[in-house]
Amino acid sequence: MSTTVPQFEHWIDGHPVPPVSGRHVDSTSPHDGELVFRVADGSAEDVERAVTAAHRAQPAWGRTTTTERSRVLTSIAAGIRENIDRLVELECAEGGKLPVPARIELLIAADYFEYYGSIVRTLAGDTIDQGPRNLTYTRHEPYGVVAVITPWNGPLNQGSRGIAPALAAGNTVVLKPSEFTSTTSLELGRIAAEAGLPDGVLNIVTGLGSTVGVPLVSHHLVRRIGFTGSVTTGRAIGRIAAERVIPVGLELGGKSPILVFADADLDAAARAAAMAVLVNSGQVCSATTRLLVERSVQDELVRRIGAILDGKRPGADFGPIVTSPQFDKMLGMLATARQEGAHAAVGGHKYEDGVPERGLYVQPTVLTDVKPDMQVAREEVFGPVLVAMPFDTEDEAVTLAHATEYGLAAAVWCGDAARGIALAHRIEAGQVAVNGGVMGVETPFGGYRTSGIGREKGIAALYEYTQLKTVSVTL
Ligand code: NAD
Repeated sequence: MSTTVPQFEHWIDGHPVPPVSGRHVDSTSPHDGELVFRVADGSAEDVERAVTAAHRAQPAWGRTTTTERSRVLTSIAAGIRENIDRLVELECAEGGKLPVPARIELLIAADYFEYYGSIVRTLAGDTIDQGPRNLTYTRHEPYGVVAVITPWNGPLNQGSRGIAPALAAGNTVVLKPSEFTSTTSLELGRIAAEAGLPDGVLNIVTGLGSTVGVPLVSHHLVRRIGFTGSVTTGRAIGRIAAERVIPVGLELGGKSPILVFADADLDAAARAAAMAVLVNSGQVCSATTRLLVERSVQDELVRRIGAILDGKRPGADFGPIVTSPQFDKMLGMLATARQEGAHAAVGGHKYEDGVPERGLYVQPTVLTDVKPDMQVAREEVFGPVLVAMPFDTEDEAVTLAHATEYGLAAAVWCGDAARGIALAHRIEAGQVAVNGGVMGVETPFGGYRTSGIGREKGIAALYEYTQLKTVSVTL
């Protein structure tokens, strides 16, 4: 084992803490399979230490004023920006990201802290008239210790999306990042401490879902869970939360449609469809990877998307698949799609030329001749695979949009904004972008149907991390 490989420990009570087991696991680069880091392999004992620290720190943090919390969160945002080069390097090394999109994602992580640091100053209850000799009012109080669990595709970005509103609301946090991409979350511990966050307010325990995630969500001192990941894990966590009667936010998977009508700006729609498979190689929960297109323009649109994807270079224009189980699953889904009669108009295979032997690269792919009941049309691929299906009428387009169990996001491209708005209202999805749209940290985000429960982002998330108390005083 090389001694030069950087080793990362848990972050507990304001310090790096080696795992009780003494074990670390190897983290390899999806670019080329090389060992890049060794990361603490957590256990229930480490979770116990982190939750205890968070529980001890919470009363004092919860009593700080919103102005005090605002200052610390704003300093954390500044700290992320100051450390941006190192954070980009880490996420590129272990997460296979490309430097430019990684930087954009990580700057958004800073935005979450700045945004919640700002809006927490508006957190206010109501007064309720109960007669002249009475004062009745409401307070938004923290839950206490909050568990935040994140997936591998946007490590610090998704962590910050939950941590920032949770801390702003006066909770303390134990974060469990994905075992595949842990390092930037651990760096956040140090950055937050340097920004003045008191010890124990943010703790990070790395390791597997079974050995860290389960003890964390089951811990009797954890009072709320913010989970981002797959539907399967979300269901398992939801069952534990139901048994414990604690609230859980579930940000789960998607298979989001992009509807393109014949009168749309086809070049802009083609660019948007191509970006869905290029950005993070399609490993984005809200990626619009089901192309529903008015039949008369289907061939032309697929041709234009192909022209954009053609010649894109692995490692320069798109990155690898982050984990080898996901890589194998995706190649299996492509093989099944071919057997079921789909045809790859673009790509369709593992990328072989010019990539390292152990690089997990899949060609950006557009499948045609896809039927709504095929596996590749219904299930989340979580990779660079766009499936194209034609429609003849608006009703048919909406029926196709609803032909999966998911409801995370949708996009509509058409020449008439009023039609776009009407469709946005009809489609069952948590966020719908018409002709591009803009969705910053201020916009609520979450799923309809099996894509989840609750909302992250926007002011809605601040309230998700508070519980409402009514105080009534007879005067
Ligand atoms: P995953 O569900 O396998 O893992 C997510 C996290 O949960 C990891 O940290 C994992 O270690 C942990 N975990 C696993 N089993 C657990 C258990 N039983 N108890 C507690 N924790 C457990 O998901 P993934 O493969 O890392 O991520 C990909 C999925 O995440 C995709 O489905 C994608 O759509 C979804 N996702 C959703 C959003 C969103 O905002 N809606 C964002 C990004 C990714």
